[in-house]
Amino acid sequence: MSQIIQRMDENEPIVRYRNITKSFGDHIVLKELDLDILPGEKIALIGPSGSGKTTIARLLMTLEEPTSGTIEVGGEMLWHMQRKGNWVAANEKHLHRVRSKIGMVFQHFNLFPHMTILRNVTEALVHVLKMPKSEANQRALEILERVGLKEHTQHYPAQLSGGQKQRVAIARALVMQPQIMLFDEVTSALDPELVGEVLDVIKGIASEGDMAMILITHEMDFARDVADRILFTDGGLIVEQGTPKDIFENPESPRLQSFLSRFL
Ligand code: ADP
Repeated sequence: MSQIIQRMDENEPIVRYRNITKSFGDHIVLKELDLDILPGEKIALIGPSGSGKTTIARLLMTLEEPTSGTIEVGGEMLWHMQRKGNWVAANEKHLHRVRSKIGMVFQHFNLFPHMTILRNVTEALVHVLKMPKSEANQRALEILERVGLKEHTQHYPAQLSGGQKQRVAIARALVMQPQIMLFDEVTSALDPELVGEVLDVIKGIASEGDMAMILITHEMDFARDVADRILFTDGGLIVEQGTPKDIFENPESPRLQSFLSRFL
């Protein structure tokens, strides 16, 4: 049995990055990053390309290992757990459990092309969570309705627009009922006329949900509308953070001022 005590207090961060440094070879991508995210909190990461935003997300998804520092999700260390005073590598089962708390949607949708939309959404419920098919279908249909795709459940990904495919990808992550959702530039690969429908779906989820959300985005209006807190990253550091009002109306650092001036 797990010896980890799960803490799910509302005021207790659901995500806690401590002193995280990440290097690729000589290139230091994140420098001693500290970041707490509260349950249900919506944060947006903004900043120039290459400033480390995706790396912050990939570390949380355990797709990258930190060079140093720790990350906790729901009170559990991602990389190591302390047992009898020793640090030991986390095992696959542990990582799987921690990962199951997090849903991620990327720029590219990565749907299964040979499966219907419904099956794309039920696949992990049936094969990972071992949920009976009828129950999985019911849950998937509810979610597909929420993202406006009820009419397309029997279609295949190739029959859908980019915006619809991205909404399937969102449904596929949501159906697992994660406590944290990560959206990494989910509209960057879309034709401009399809961006709005995807952002509207995310706004809807944000307004309903008690899920924490991390939004990596270049859509400043969207960040302003959805986020409780905005973090500006540059050169591997969180240079400035605050409410949307603080960030957009009173940016303090010259680097943030210069970054925002590109969107005027
Ligand atoms: P952002 O999301 O802000 O654009 P990233 O986190 O994707 O930034 O990247 C930060 C820096 O880390 C970039 O310079 C990128 O080239 C580098 N980087 C990211 N992943 C790797 C990798 N697997 N190997 C080498 N360098 C990487």
